[in-house]
Amino acid sequence: NMPTIFVVTPTYTRLTQRADITRFVNTIKHVEKMHWIVIEDSEHPTEAVRELMAESGIPGTQLYTKTPENSEKKDGMERFQYHRGVDQRNLALNKIAAMGDKNAIVYFADDDNTYSLEVFDEMRKTERVSVWPVAFVGGQKYERPIVVDGKVKKWHVSWHPERTYPTDMASFAFHSSLLHTGRVPQFSHEWRQGFLESGFLEQLLDSPEDLEPRGDNCTKILVWHTRTMDVNIKREAKLRAEPFIKV
Ligand code: UDP
Ligand code: MN
Repeated sequence: NMPTIFVVTPTYTRLTQRADITRFVNTIKHVEKMHWIVIEDSEHPTEAVRELMAESGIPGTQLYTKTPENSEKKDGMERFQYHRGVDQRNLALNKIAAMGDKNAIVYFADDDNTYSLEVFDEMRKTERVSVWPVAFVGGQKYERPIVVDGKVKKWHVSWHPERTYPTDMASFAFHSSLLHTGRVPQFSHEWRQGFLESGFLEQLLDSPEDLEPRGDNCTKILVWHTRTMDVNIKREAKLRAEPFIKV
């Protein structure tokens, strides 16, 4: 009885959004038994995302919540940078918890990364929390857990290696049973930049040794933290306005 995979994707309106989401859909279309939760960082749901989700044919839920502006420390002291995706992922976690599926896996999948199909097969085996390497992140070719005798003993990570779980959002998935053991785990704006994953995983597990290494003991790259480059539209202004077509 195969668990459902809840794929949680925060997204926001930008020129390359349709390109990114189209590429993402073309991957997850091939994944069976999944439910796609898309959370827009906006005050209203958009027609673009509604359309992309409908055309995908993938069962899903469209949510939205705008990341709040920080009204308190605008100027003056050090600029407080809000994390991306905090409120969006929290909303999705509460929604999934409320849906009450006891046989499911949850994965945070940003809209611009590159995902092998194999990573979905691997995460489907999750009992509590699975982990695997991620390429093109942290100023490295890849970051990965180092596995000794089947357990995560240390990390091939250079950026803030003192984090309890120094690993990327795309590197782990967890079982829905962990949403039903009391308080729903959440992300917090209070945590330092780059500490979201570690702070979240600390709520799920007691130690890195509880992680279940996937992808041949974390020796295979199954996810790439790719980023879409900004498009040069400098010459748009030189042309007469054209009848509008969606990009
Ligand atoms: N995102 C968002 N609001 C923003 C910026 C980003 O919801 O203001 C989403 C974005 O679509 C992606 C995730 O949050 O799914 C991570 O953002 P991004 O890919 O820009 O982060 P990076 O890969 O550069 O760390
Ligand atoms: Mn990204």
